[in-house]
Amino acid sequence: MRRSGGWPAEVVRDINRFQSRSGSVKVNLGLSELPKPKAWDGSMPGDPHTGIMSISPSVEYLERAWDDAKYGRMSEHPYVECVFPTVFEPDLAPEGKHIALCFTQFGPFELAEGSWDDGGRDEYARRVISALNDASPNFEAAVEHVEVLTPKDIEDRFGLLGCNIFQGDMNPEQMFSFRPIPGYADYRTPVAGLYMCGSGTHPGGGVMAVPGYNASRSSSATSAATNSPVVTAPSRS
Ligand SMILES: Cc1cc2nc3c(=O)[nH]c(=O)nc-3n(C[C@H](O)[C@H](O)[C@H](O)COP(=O)(O)OP(=O)(O)OC[C@H]3O[C@@H](n4cnc5c(N)ncnc54)[C@H](O)[C@@H]3O)c2cc1C
Repeated sequence: MRRSGGWPAEVVRDINRFQSRSGSVKVNLGLSELPKPKAWDGSMPGDPHTGIMSISPSVEYLERAWDDAKYGRMSEHPYVECVFPTVFEPDLAPEGKHIALCFTQFGPFELAEGSWDDGGRDEYARRVISALNDASPNFEAAVEHVEVLTPKDIEDRFGLLGCNIFQGDMNPEQMFSFRPIPGYADYRTPVAGLYMCGSGTHPGGGVMAVPGYNASRSSSATSAATNSPVVTAPSRS
């Protein structure tokens, strides 16, 4: 919309300054069997595969993972968060097989050296699988299919600008009355009757529905006061 012109110059300037960057990479795996976590000896009730298998053994580990990304490298030892939807819906995979969906960090949007398309994806998948294998020694042998979605893939395929999972950096200069830009934190846009909602607006990212709730209250209040119709749109800068 901003390309269509007619927007106040300061709005165009501020939207162009909006930061939406990420180091998130999705790794989707086809498995011949479910992992057998070393940490789970079966003495507790329940099935560990119905939860999230998270590889984040220490703050130090996460710091080192981030250090790599700061210098444009994929993490040597990535943070991994893995779920197994076939435990709930077996039909998602051929009989007896499983899928693992891994949310991982960190892989920079663009690598300082080399590229995702030229071996980067394979190398990153190897690191993720290795981290999972450390926790579940049958993991690597069970992997039959690998899909790596880099930050650029996620931006291209899903329109998530910069692949920022919160639809914009959650830093102080983009929070509260500055989200998404100063002067428009009340869900209005420069187009009368058009409102924004979603994680790009206050209070930001997370599965909480507050931006939509606030936007509907804001638009309803204005609509009632002016007796005018309301249109809402997900925020996308
Ligand atoms: C990989 C990933 C992992 C995440 N992990 C977590 C987590 O662990 N915990 C957490 O709290 N948050 C997490 N988040 C963030 C969280 O998912 C988002 O902040 C939240 O879902 C955003 O909600 P939303 O309603 O603003 O947007 P969305 O959930 O993106 O919903 C927007 C909807 O609008 C639709 N839409 C877009 N354009 C149009 C259009 N023109 N017309 C009609 N419909 C349209 C889209 O299809 C979509 O359904 C994660 C996000 C990602 C991407």
